[in-house]
Amino acid sequence: MIEFEPPLRLQLDSNALASNWQTLARLSGTAATGAAVKADGYGLGAREVVQRLRDTGCRDFFVAHWSEAAAIADLVPAGSISVLNGIIAAEISLIRQLGAIPVLNTPQQIQLWKAAGGGPCHVMLDSGINRLGIGPKQVNAVLFEGLDIDILMSHLASADEDSAQNAAQLATFVDIARNVRAKRRSFANSAGIMLGTNYQFDLTRPGLSIYGGIARAEMQSLIKPVVSIQSRVLQVRHLDKGDTIGYNATYVCSTPIMVATVAVGYADGYLRGFSNKGTVTFDGRDMPVIGRVSMDLITIEVPKAVQLVEGDWVDIAYDLVSASRQSGLSQYELLTLLGDRACRCWR
Ligand SMILES: *Cc1c(COP(=O)(O)O)cnc(C)c1O
Repeated sequence: MIEFEPPLRLQLDSNALASNWQTLARLSGTAATGAAVKADGYGLGAREVVQRLRDTGCRDFFVAHWSEAAAIADLVPAGSISVLNGIIAAEISLIRQLGAIPVLNTPQQIQLWKAAGGGPCHVMLDSGINRLGIGPKQVNAVLFEGLDIDILMSHLASADEDSAQNAAQLATFVDIARNVRAKRRSFANSAGIMLGTNYQFDLTRPGLSIYGGIARAEMQSLIKPVVSIQSRVLQVRHLDKGDTIGYNATYVCSTPIMVATVAVGYADGYLRGFSNKGTVTFDGRDMPVIGRVSMDLITIEVPKAVQLVEGDWVDIAYDLVSASRQSGLSQYELLTLLGDRACRCWR
């Protein structure tokens, strides 16, 4: 196949990724630090992420699907991948072949695992998110009998906020965990790490902040951006007062302006929430996105002082905190939506 260079580049910073993980490891105190690499490493590319974090010292990797575990299994030692979404009977023999560790979420899954011969497993307790895991009412004296539990874990619902739910979930987790035998206990995601030592147990499980996300404001100065986006200018044109831009003419020129059309759109994860809100920079100058974001294109206003020509590369402003505010998307969405027709250029 003839290979073309895409007009859209995600620049991914290996040093920032490693440094963020090390920072989270430091913030985790005496707890070990793992990494959530589900959703293709939060959109950055799970294989690239796992290799870098493995080389930085990470030993525990969390994915959601078994297919995600299979896609990285050759990169890390057996037993270092955990699969959060649990197990189903139809896949049990494949699961046992792969050697990744299941997170058992229900009494049914516990029975299934025991019936299949058992072996190391993790257990998710639901301490109040009411999503996956065994809730306080389902716990009984015999449920965990005979299980070889490595990580006993639970997941916070509101760790990014100063919510009373955090302490309540902690109390619930501690209360149930007291009576369950397991090698390790794990509770905190990125934001949870910042809630203090009580929340850290033996192993933390950050995701977002490894990839540059600011899970809580206290992290702003500690976490480095990993992703930056560059795109090519496809056309520059002059518009007159009264001309309109893009689908449904949501922008009307109030004066004559220069505009440029740039090769990024909602198919790349730059969703329509950036319409008339996003920013592009060139030579340190900000240029607003005007009109609606379309599938493959955006339009920006080019100030008089900026000399922009066809073929120039511009930076799509993608600071996760401000881009989240502009677009109404969460920082998680901003990362995981990034489309795969952009090149992922690691440096
Ligand atoms: C995704 C996930 C994490 C990581 O959460 P972040 O908020 O991205 O740090 C940790 N634990 C579980 C169970 C998860 O699903």
